Order: sequence, then C-alpha cells, then structure tokens
Amino acid sequence: MPCPTDVASRLAEVRASIARAARDVGRNPADVTLIAVCKTFPAEAILPALEAGQRVFGENYVQEAKAKWPRLREAFPDVRLHLIGPLQSNKAKDAVRLFDAIHTVDRESLVRELAKEVAKIGRSPRLFVQVNTGEEPQKGGVSPSEADGFIALCREGFGLPIEGLMCIPPVDEPPSPHFALLAKIAARNGLRELSMGMSADFEAAIQLGATYVRIGSAIFGERA
Ligand SMILES: *Cc1c(COP(=O)(O)O)cnc(C)c1O
Repeated sequence: MPCPTDVASRLAEVRASIARAARDVGRNPADVTLIAVCKTFPAEAILPALEAGQRVFGENYVQEAKAKWPRLREAFPDVRLHLIGPLQSNKAKDAVRLFDAIHTVDRESLVRELAKEVAKIGRSPRLFVQVNTGEEPQKGGVSPSEADGFIALCREGFGLPIEGLMCIPPVDEPPSPHFALLAKIAARNGLRELSMGMSADFEAAIQLGATYVRIGSAIFGERA
C-alpha cells in the first residue's frame, strides 16, 4: 500500500509535469485532463488522491470498479470514472451505468450492446474508440485502416456519440509515431478528444495533442 503523503506528492508532481508539457508546446494545461489510474489499488490508497482534489479516475475492470467505487462516490459525488480496460459485451450493461466514460469501444458486438443500454437509460457515457495503432494481435482496438469505417458505424449505424480515440502504443517502440497516427485519424473524423499517454510517455502524448492522459504508477506506485 502506498503511503498517503507519497500519493499526494506524486500526484502534485504529475500535475506539474502535465502543465509544463502543455505549456512547452503552447497548449493550455486545462485542456489536458488527468485520469488517475487506480486499478488494483484499494480505497485507502485512492483516498489521499481524492483528498488532494483529484476527481477523474480510471479503472480497468468492471467488477473491481463496482466493488470499490459506490462507497467512495458517496463521499465524493463529483468523481468521474473512466473505464480504460477491455470491455466484454456481457458487461456493457454494468459499464454504461457505472462509468462516465468508456475508452475501449472496438467491435460491433460491443457497440450493439452499448447502444441498447444507452437507449434504456437515456444517457451515454462519453465514448472513445480504441485504435490498435501497433496492430498487435493480443491488444484490443480496431486497426488503423478500419477506424474510419468503425467510427461511422458507431455514429450512423448505432447513433452513439463518439467523442474521441484512445491508443496504447506497443511497449517496445517509440510512442510518438503512434500518438501522431491517432491524432491524424481523429482529425479526419472530426473527433476532438485524444486519450493517449501513460506514466512513461505522457509528455510526448501531450506534445502530440492528448486531451486525456491515463497515469497510474507515477501516482500510486508500482502495481503488485
Ligand atoms: C494500467 C493502464 C494505464 C496506466 O499505466 P501506468 O503505466 O501505470 O501509468 C493507462 N492506460 C491503460 C489502458 C492501462 O491499462
């Protein structure tokens, strides 16, 4: 378990680095939202971040978020939860109700379930299409060549309000070409939001236009 003062001070450092990276390229730091990724960490580790004013959090697993967040949200009702991990179609129902944003929309079967649940409850989480920029077989996301068609399917075929794109570059490659590719696909599809950049590479992502950075270990420490 990370020490509370460590979490607060690392969070402050990360916020300062985000602001610096944004200003370096002439961007307004307020246009970059920090998603504090707290997967695997218990509520006690998350509390110091909440107490330091952090309100946007990322989780990878629906079940884990369902177990952790309802109680934390009672104390901090303005929290915004983002799902950044792969989503099984049979969890779409829970995900639409629990999350304010879903970053991993990547296949028609899932889109179908999401659209059904969105229609039922009459509101949609913010939705991001994940693009597998490195075309890695083990990773989720649509391939770059299929992205335009898939975005059109989400919007026109299912009426879902896609807001942006998300990517996770391959670990063994320089990330910047992947960020640039994601930005290019977003621009040609009229999408404003770019979810890209993690602890190791968020400065590069901000240089290339990230509007959401997903940062875990730099705030909460290494995961077990
Ligand atoms: C875990 C995770 C992160 C955070 O990674 P860190 O390297 O700990 O910052 C960001 N994005 C996704 C999709 C993740 O699964």
